[in-house]
Amino acid sequence: MNEKVMRAVCYESYGSGSEGLKHVQVPIPKPKRDEVLVKVEASCPNPIDYKLQGGIARPFMPKKFPYIPVTDISGEVVEIGSDVQFQVGDKVVAMLTYTNGGGLGEYAVAPAKLTVKRPEEVSAVEGAGLPLAGLTALHVLTILGHVEIKSGGKAANVLVIAASGGVGHYVVQLAKLGNNHVTATCGARNIELLKSLGADEVLDYTTEDGKMLRSPSGCKYDVVINCATSEIPWLTYKQNLSEQGRVVHLNPDGKTMMKSVSLKLSCSRKKVTSLMMCPKKKEDLEFLVGLVKEGKLKTVVDSKYPLAEAEQAWAKMMGGHATGKIVVEP
Ligand code: NAP
Repeated sequence: MNEKVMRAVCYESYGSGSEGLKHVQVPIPKPKRDEVLVKVEASCPNPIDYKLQGGIARPFMPKKFPYIPVTDISGEVVEIGSDVQFQVGDKVVAMLTYTNGGGLGEYAVAPAKLTVKRPEEVSAVEGAGLPLAGLTALHVLTILGHVEIKSGGKAANVLVIAASGGVGHYVVQLAKLGNNHVTATCGARNIELLKSLGADEVLDYTTEDGKMLRSPSGCKYDVVINCATSEIPWLTYKQNLSEQGRVVHLNPDGKTMMKSVSLKLSCSRKKVTSLMMCPKKKEDLEFLVGLVKEGKLKTVVDSKYPLAEAEQAWAKMMGGHATGKIVVEP
């Protein structure tokens, strides 16, 4: 029997960055009973995708090669497993498993438990940006940061470090859904963008004030969401935090963990929290898609690449200077 094949981009070993990506023809995967097969319309790589290729979770993930990377997709359901509620023809946003990957292909198998319907108001590109970056933004802000994002909720002063990135630009917009005052840091070229997304004040991270995280209006931060990888001394945070201020790190290292413990032991009212792995919940993804539908959240697109140029998208992502999300379209 002739197996149907599709175009995909994979890598065959750890390391090698964009040069390790290969264009291949592989069989179209079959969905299991709790999965759907999606014809991919857009996918968005995240930094974790190149970090996995670099071996950050070696030897557990990826376990098998060749591996088709990327987990965040939008597309149309073309085949369903026996136990799922979706129908062929449904437009969806989905987060694939890291075990299977598959986003850099023409078709991908998605778990129904992390697949949500995409209303016609939400484009494939806007939807594909949401899974990891949007879920992370929502979690760090509301669960780890305790920031309310309902209008009428308690107001907080929020600082978002690296606010122009995939996660940061969602954090800014989500924080502004509530009564919060948002200070954002980014490079000079993105200052106007961050203002347009709702930031009340923006700091260029290359300036002295930016490095010192000094709010132009002099406010003290109740919550700092740090999406950057660069190290910031605790003293810099401390000087800018309110009495019960907390710092949430997306890229925790040993020092961050130690600081978190030492603050707890000293009964400090200031806190440091780290995100290890963002929990993924279908209802949260539905919430984010709903916000995009209502025009309350947008996906800023850094650049779009056809699947045939996926290595360029990969290299751009590895460069660490994306503004919003990088998109790959089959
Ligand atoms: P990204 O899109 O690659 O972020 C790039 C953006 O960050 C660029 O716009 C860059 O601005 C800006 N930036 C970098 N360093 C900065 C600094 N020191 N100050 C201000 N802006 C800075 O990355 P992302 O998708 O937002 O993810 C952010 C980080 O969080 C990544 O390291 C990712 O791996 C991590 N993360 C962790 C989890 C978890 O579960 N723990 C989940 C999601 C993401 P310029 O171009 O102007 O430099």
